[in-house]
Formats: sequence, structure tokens, C-alpha cells
Amino acid sequence: MNRPVLPTAGPGCSDAPVLKERGQHEVFCGLTGIVWLHRKMQDAFFLVVGSRTCAHLLQSAAGVMIFAEPRFGTAILEEKDLAGLADANEELDREVARLLDRRPDIRRLFLVGSCPSEVIKLDLARAAERLTAEHSPRVLVQNYSGSGIETTFTQGEDACLAAIAEKAPATDTARLLLVGALPDVVEDQALGLLRDIGIENVAVLPSARAETTPEIGPHTRFALTQPFLGDTHAALTRRGASHIPAPFPFGEEGTTLWLTAIAEAFGIDRSVVDRVTAAPRARARKAIAARAETLRGKSLFFFPDSQLEIPLARFLTRECGMEAVEVGTPFLHRGLLGPDLALLAPGPGISEGQDVERQLDRVRAAAPDLTICGLGLANPLEAEGLTTKWAIELVFTPVHFYEQAGDLADLFARPLRRKALIGPKISSGGAEGRGADSPPPVAT
Ligand code: SF4
Repeated sequence: MNRPVLPTAGPGCSDAPVLKERGQHEVFCGLTGIVWLHRKMQDAFFLVVGSRTCAHLLQSAAGVMIFAEPRFGTAILEEKDLAGLADANEELDREVARLLDRRPDIRRLFLVGSCPSEVIKLDLARAAERLTAEHSPRVLVQNYSGSGIETTFTQGEDACLAAIAEKAPATDTARLLLVGALPDVVEDQALGLLRDIGIENVAVLPSARAETTPEIGPHTRFALTQPFLGDTHAALTRRGASHIPAPFPFGEEGTTLWLTAIAEAFGIDRSVVDRVTAAPRARARKAIAARAETLRGKSLFFFPDSQLEIPLARFLTRECGMEAVEVGTPFLHRGLLGPDLALLAPGPGISEGQDVERQLDRVRAAAPDLTICGLGLANPLEAEGLTTKWAIELVFTPVHFYEQAGDLADLFARPLRRKALIGPKISSGGAEGRGADSPPPVAT
């Protein structure tokens, strides 16, 4: 059997100096998370309490659901609400009553805060309590913030899962909790791997339906599948659950280390993980190797955006042979990212937060082969001759675990192949400037 070589513990970038920046940042807001959360949570409705801008963002990012009833919407704050001339709470209660009357399928209602609702200090936590009292037990009403004030787009999911964790039922049962909204097919693969190594009692946060909301207690061990779940980690810890620290399951190495850490936490011998994962590890290595031909030796620059930057830099440098110049992250939560940081070879600059003009100066000076950044920066940088990858695609595309490892590497190889095909000078705008493999831009 081909036993995986687990890396020896070294400091890697654990002690590397971190450039902390607190300037202007260029990111989407947390409302974006509704796009994937509403697909995952099949009896939930996300009601954004916001402006027409928020409604446009959602509509553009999530598209129009023509054949199905939508499970997200915007209660629009008009000028009279913003000016304090109307009681926004009364209007909200009325809209929620109308919505729940018309939609008996809704079991969970999330009131999602926005920049406007936070600016006028509309207390959605109190509104959620009031509306739960009115509509329970049929509907549980909860709230979280998706506002663009001080957030980046993946914080929307984090805030939503933290809100669920706070209110989840209590239990004393020992179990594993898998945390993070994954596409169903990827979640099934993870559950299959865990079952095969002998872990049967696994719950998932977020659950597809209200009645399967996971119970949480002091014997709950939880494994995160996404590195942006800092608030959820804190909420679960407050409920007595304990975290299983591990590199995130991106690529062959990350997935193996993630499974090994869980197996160890449940007293399962490493040889079981080796046996169960031998075939998928070999498939993942083969799939990555094919894409690594394009990636090997190429330099890489991450703008802080999705919070996946450090685990992906670890994957791209260690498994695909790329060289990281700078790895920016909106937040550096060492409790979550420590194991990935320790595997990242010393060398790249590590930055936390953003001062976008300074970072643009640095990326121009470095002229990396590939820049991973937000939508707003990608087109201008392409126009300057840099090759870019949109960070938001990393969250919309299935990229976790062994079977997706090749696709994950391919997300980064495609823009480089495109560049090689059409030559070094790329004109600004249009499909060429965006990259043929990227979806069309969304408005914000
Ligand atoms: S940043 Fe997001 S929450 Fe804020 S106004 Fe714009 S769309 Fe709404």
C-alpha cells in the first residue's frame, strides 16, 4: 500500500512577520453567501433587510428563479424608513406575516442585516425574537449580518452558521460535527470517507432541513471544512464543543491530513486512514500532476478576499510547485489557519487586512504569473497585462477533498493556459479581459 508521507512539523510560516493593513478594501459583502446557503438549506428563507442596492446584488449574483419560488428576497428600506419617519419594525412584521402566510414550506427565516439596516440601527436580533414568539413552533426566526461594513463576502456564511450554532439544541452525545456549507455531492464524499474510516455518528452544519439541525454539547468534536468560519468556531466553543485543528481539505495532502486528524481525535489507527484513502489519494495525485505541468515554477500573488488564501497557497506551493510571492488574507485566525500556515514554506510575504492601493503597488512591482483577486480588481489588472483568477469562483466551485483536487488545480491552470494561447498582451474589458473561463461579472 502506498502510505502517505505526512510532513514533519516545522514552523513554516508560523513565525513569519505579518504585514497588518487597515486601509481601503475591495471585497464583496456578506450577502453573497445567500447564493449558496439558500441552495443548501432547503426549507430556509433569507430576507435581507436592506436597500435597492442589496436587492440588485442578490438578483444579479443569484439569478432569477423562474420555475421555483425564490427562497431569498429583500425587504426594502425606503427613504422614510431611513429618515426615521416610519416604524421599520411594524413594516417588517407585516412583510414577514405576509411571506409566511403565502409560503407554508418555510421553516427557518433568516433576517439578514445590511449596511442600511445597520446604519439606522434596526435591531434585527430583537425583531427575530419577537417574530419567533409570533410564528413558532412552525418557523424559527433568526438574524445575522451580511453587511458590507467591515466584512468580506465569506463572513455571511460564517455569521449565519454562528447564529444557528448559538440556538441549536443541546446534547450530551459524542459525535462529529462537520461544519461548512458544501455542495451536496462533495458533502456525500466527505461523509463516505468518514464512514469508511469508522466514524458513523456525523452531523452536518448547516443541515438541509430544520428538523435535522445538529444538537451541540460538550462531547461534540467539530471539523471545519472552510477556513472562514471563525465566528462559528467561537459559537461552537461557547456551546462546549471542541475543535479538531487540521489543515483544510484542499488537495491530496490537505484532505489526508484533515482525515488523519479526525481519525486521531476518535482513536482510530492511522493505518485505517491509509487503507481507506489509498485509491482516492492516487486518483487525486494523478489529477493534480496533469495540471501541475502548467503551474510548476509559476509565481502567485493572493489579494485578501475569500479567506481561503493561506490553505490554497499551501496547496499550490506544495502540491502544484508554484511559488507564492504574497499571501494576503482578510483575517489571520491562527486557531483555524495555524496548521496550514505551518506547512507553508517560508518565503512569501504574509499580509492581513488590506490597503488596496499599497497592495496594487506591490503586485505591479512583483509582476506575478498569476494574481488571485476580487472581481473589481481583476479587469484592471488584466488590462495591465497581469493574469488573474477571481477569488469568488473558489467558493462557488466544488473544490474540497480528493475527487475535486484536479479541478481545484485546474481553476488556477486555466488562466495560465489561456494566457499562453492568446499571448502576453491582453486587451481590457470583454470576455478576453475577464478570462473565458470566468462567469460574467455581477453588479454590486
Ligand atoms: S455592501 Fe452589500 S449590504 Fe451594503 S449596501 Fe451594498 S449590497 Fe447592501
